[in-house]
Amino acid sequence: MNPLGINLSFAVKRWPEPEVWAKRVRKELGLNLVQFTFDLIDPWWPEKLAFSLAHRVRRAAEAQGITIHSAFVGLAHYTYNQLLHPKGEGRAAAKEWYKRAIDLAAELGVKAVGGPVGGMSVREKHREARYQELLDTLNELAVYAKGRGLETLLIEPTPLRREVPWTVEAARKLAQDLTGSAVPFRYCLDIGHALYQPLYGSGASLEPWLKLGDRIGVLHLQQTDGQSDSHWNFAGYPELARTKGIVDPARVVQDLQQAGLGNMPVILEVFYPFELTDEAVWSDVKSGVANLKHRFVLDD
Ligand code: MN
Ligand code: FE
Repeated sequence: MNPLGINLSFAVKRWPEPEVWAKRVRKELGLNLVQFTFDLIDPWWPEKLAFSLAHRVRRAAEAQGITIHSAFVGLAHYTYNQLLHPKGEGRAAAKEWYKRAIDLAAELGVKAVGGPVGGMSVREKHREARYQELLDTLNELAVYAKGRGLETLLIEPTPLRREVPWTVEAARKLAQDLTGSAVPFRYCLDIGHALYQPLYGSGASLEPWLKLGDRIGVLHLQQTDGQSDSHWNFAGYPELARTKGIVDPARVVQDLQQAGLGNMPVILEVFYPFELTDEAVWSDVKSGVANLKHRFVLDD
């Protein structure tokens, strides 16, 4: 059975104090696995502030017996073109951001860092050159990550043609092209990305992605209608999640098992509108987790 964890996206801006989300995760959700998000601590912040907050996160998680699986890019930095920015200086800045993210992860005591790596401009004419440079950059980041004691770098494929990789074939090629990196690269599959029908067609499914096998390190779980990257929970909010949601968690677990990924961590990743009340968010987080939990292992 797969272990279940939760990405801290739900806590962003609402419960930024580590002691608060840690207690909620452990005592109210009954989970002991989280994925940290850099939407809670920005790697660009002055080191003194960022590191002292990271140490507080580490202590709060330890105090509640919570394991931090990995630290992820989050929405804020995903917004930028990151490692595929059209300007060389833009790409260099993104590489620096990733190094700081790796430093922060080391202070968090986390063994893996990841996320989507970047998006090209609509006007990009040198896609192949961007790709080759990306390989160099990722290899350099792997060396840096190894130096800071990390064990894995995670890449999250996204359902956008301007991002890398967005197909199973491209993911397979990228994995091959990164063979021999200082730390291994693994994929973070997001089920809502795999099921995005406007790009992958009405037959979109997780199955072809699961053929990546041991190249996959973790799964992002969300409810979606297949028409957007919905990031809904498995509860009652919004009404669309109930009426149009196409993800069956039982099927996901079964598919993972069949793919030989029955022990891989599954991380619930849900986003809520900033303006939604704190009470509504928390009650949806709680009921969604309650509806999922029985399908997963939650070892103490
Ligand atoms: Mn995701
Ligand atoms: Fe997503």
